[in-house]
Amino acid sequence: MNPQPSSSACGRLEAAWEVLRQIPDPEVPVISLWELGIVRDLRETAGGLEVVLTPTYSGCPATELIQDDVRAALARFGTVEVILQRAPAWTTDWISEAGREKLRAYGIAPPGRVLDSGAQPIRLVHRASLSKLACPRCGSANTEKLSAFGSTACKALYRCLACREPFEYFKPI
Ligand SMILES: [Zn+2]
Repeated sequence: MNPQPSSSACGRLEAAWEVLRQIPDPEVPVISLWELGIVRDLRETAGGLEVVLTPTYSGCPATELIQDDVRAALARFGTVEVILQRAPAWTTDWISEAGREKLRAYGIAPPGRVLDSGAQPIRLVHRASLSKLACPRCGSANTEKLSAFGSTACKALYRCLACREPFEYFKPI
């Protein structure tokens, strides 16, 4: 006989979290929605689940796709309602350290920090250091910006002058 699934609400929610944390980002499948920081909450409802997501960029075409993916992945838990919470707005600072490492390994330079614990205006610091963006492949700072937009509006296109490989930069917001 198969082991009975836990009937406790807690076990069910825990199982749903487990599934939710694994759902990949449709645009960059190496990173999960959880690592991207857009999953804000998961709650149980009478008939199923309620998932709270904060979309990355307003008008990002992936938002619809992400909602469909979440509904499909959690369908076995009942009715899945996706709530889009737009405030506070998502920032690239919400991308986890593990997520940043995965982006780099995938060949996308992870975004610089927008805010920091200190009082320094990081946006300005960041802008000044844009030309010295490190290549995710070889680490060289000898890179140049090719285009403000890469494969998606969320990314910019760069080229490394050391290894000559183009790469994308996840723009910080
Ligand atoms: Zn390089």
